[in-house]
Amino acid sequence: MYKMNYELLRKTINHFGEQCQKNKAIEELGELVSALSKEPYGGSKESVISEIADVKIVLAQLELMYLSSRVKEAVDFKLQRLESRLIGSEIMNSMAKDQFDLEHYIKQKESGPDNG
Ligand SMILES: [Mg+2]
Repeated sequence: MYKMNYELLRKTINHFGEQCQKNKAIEELGELVSALSKEPYGGSKESVISEIADVKIVLAQLELMYLSSRVKEAVDFKLQRLESRLIGSEIMNSMAKDQFDLEHYIKQKESGPDNG
Protein backbone atom coordinates (compact mmCIF):
# COMPACT_ATOMS: atom_id res chain seq x y z
CA MET A 1 0.00 0.00 0.00
CA TYR A 2 1.33 3.40 -0.94
CA LYS A 3 1.90 6.22 1.45
CA MET A 4 1.63 9.62 -0.18
CA ASN A 5 5.05 11.31 -0.14
CA TYR A 6 4.01 14.86 0.75
CA GLU A 7 7.60 16.02 1.07
CA LEU A 8 8.28 15.02 -2.54
CA LEU A 9 5.03 16.68 -3.65
CA ARG A 10 5.91 19.91 -1.79
CA LYS A 11 9.34 19.91 -3.49
CA THR A 12 7.65 19.35 -6.86
CA ILE A 13 5.31 22.33 -6.31
CA ASN A 14 8.25 24.51 -5.24
CA HIS A 15 10.30 23.42 -8.25
CA PHE A 16 7.69 23.78 -11.02
CA GLY A 17 5.41 26.36 -9.39
CA GLU A 18 1.76 26.20 -8.32
CA GLN A 19 0.28 27.28 -11.66
CA CYS A 20 2.26 24.66 -13.55
CA GLN A 21 1.04 21.91 -11.18
CA LYS A 22 -2.55 23.18 -11.43
CA ASN A 23 -2.24 22.88 -15.20
CA LYS A 24 -0.84 19.39 -14.70
CA ALA A 25 -3.87 18.54 -12.53
CA ILE A 26 -6.22 19.77 -15.28
CA GLU A 27 -4.33 17.58 -17.78
CA GLU A 28 -4.44 14.49 -15.57
CA LEU A 29 -8.14 14.94 -14.73
CA GLY A 30 -8.84 15.14 -18.45
CA GLU A 31 -6.87 11.94 -19.04
CA LEU A 32 -8.95 10.15 -16.38
CA VAL A 33 -12.17 11.43 -17.95
CA SER A 34 -10.96 10.14 -21.31
CA ALA A 35 -9.91 6.71 -19.97
CA LEU A 36 -13.21 6.26 -18.11
CA SER A 37 -15.16 7.32 -21.19
CA LYS A 38 -13.34 4.82 -23.41
CA GLU A 39 -13.43 1.86 -21.00
CA PRO A 40 -16.95 0.62 -21.92
CA TYR A 41 -16.02 0.74 -25.62
CA GLY A 42 -12.87 -1.37 -25.55
CA GLY A 43 -10.64 0.93 -23.54
CA SER A 44 -8.39 -0.76 -21.04
CA LYS A 45 -8.92 -1.05 -17.32
CA GLU A 46 -5.16 -0.58 -16.93
CA SER A 47 -5.42 2.89 -18.49
CA VAL A 48 -8.10 3.83 -15.96
CA ILE A 49 -5.97 2.52 -13.10
CA SER A 50 -2.92 4.43 -14.35
CA GLU A 51 -4.92 7.66 -14.65
CA ILE A 52 -6.44 7.19 -11.18
CA ALA A 53 -2.88 7.02 -9.83
CA ASP A 54 -1.93 10.22 -11.69
CA VAL A 55 -5.05 11.99 -10.40
CA LYS A 56 -4.41 10.92 -6.81
CA ILE A 57 -0.93 12.44 -7.05
CA VAL A 58 -2.11 15.75 -8.51
CA LEU A 59 -5.03 15.91 -6.06
CA ALA A 60 -2.60 15.53 -3.16
CA GLN A 61 -0.63 18.48 -4.59
CA LEU A 62 -3.82 20.54 -4.91
CA GLU A 63 -4.64 19.73 -1.28
CA LEU A 64 -1.25 21.11 -0.25
CA MET A 65 -1.90 24.28 -2.28
CA TYR A 66 -5.46 24.76 -1.04
CA LEU A 67 -4.85 24.05 2.65
CA SER A 68 -5.30 20.38 3.47
CA SER A 69 -7.29 21.07 6.64
CA ARG A 70 -9.96 23.02 4.70
CA VAL A 71 -10.17 20.24 2.09
CA LYS A 72 -10.49 17.62 4.86
CA GLU A 73 -13.32 19.63 6.46
CA ALA A 74 -15.13 19.80 3.12
CA VAL A 75 -14.63 16.05 2.55
CA ASP A 76 -15.95 15.27 6.06
CA PHE A 77 -19.02 17.45 5.44
CA LYS A 78 -19.75 15.85 2.08
CA LEU A 79 -19.26 12.30 3.37
CA GLN A 80 -21.68 12.98 6.24
CA ARG A 81 -24.20 14.45 3.77
CA LEU A 82 -23.78 11.40 1.51
CA GLU A 83 -24.33 9.06 4.47
CA SER A 84 -27.50 10.95 5.46
CA ARG A 85 -28.82 10.71 1.92
CA LEU A 86 -28.03 7.00 1.77
CA ILE A 87 -29.75 6.34 5.10
CA GLY A 88 -32.73 8.43 3.92
CA SER A 89 -32.86 6.45 0.69
CA GLU A 90 -32.71 3.13 2.55
CA ILE A 91 -35.57 4.27 4.81
CA MET A 92 -37.62 5.30 1.75
CA ASN A 93 -36.92 1.94 0.06
CA SER A 94 -37.91 0.12 3.23
CA MET A 95 -41.14 2.16 3.48
CA ALA A 96 -41.88 1.53 -0.21
CA LYS A 97 -41.40 -2.21 0.36
CA ASP A 98 -43.71 -2.12 3.40
CA GLN A 99 -46.31 -0.25 1.33
CA PHE A 100 -46.00 -2.87 -1.42
CA ASP A 101 -46.40 -5.68 1.12
CA LEU A 102 -49.47 -3.97 2.59
CA GLU A 103 -51.08 -3.57 -0.85
CA HIS A 104 -50.30 -7.21 -1.65
CA TYR A 105 -51.84 -8.28 1.68
CA ILE A 106 -55.00 -6.20 1.11
CA LYS A 107 -55.45 -7.61 -2.40
CA GLN A 108 -55.11 -11.16 -1.08
CA LYS A 109 -57.67 -10.46 1.65
CA GLU A 110 -60.08 -8.88 -0.84
CA SER A 111 -59.85 -11.80 -3.23
CA GLY A 112 -61.12 -14.11 -0.53
CA PRO A 113 -59.72 -17.06 1.43
CA ASP A 114 -59.85 -19.45 -1.50
CA ASN A 115 -57.66 -17.25 -3.67
CA GLY A 116 -55.05 -16.32 -1.31
MG1 LIG B 1 -1.96 10.63 -16.94
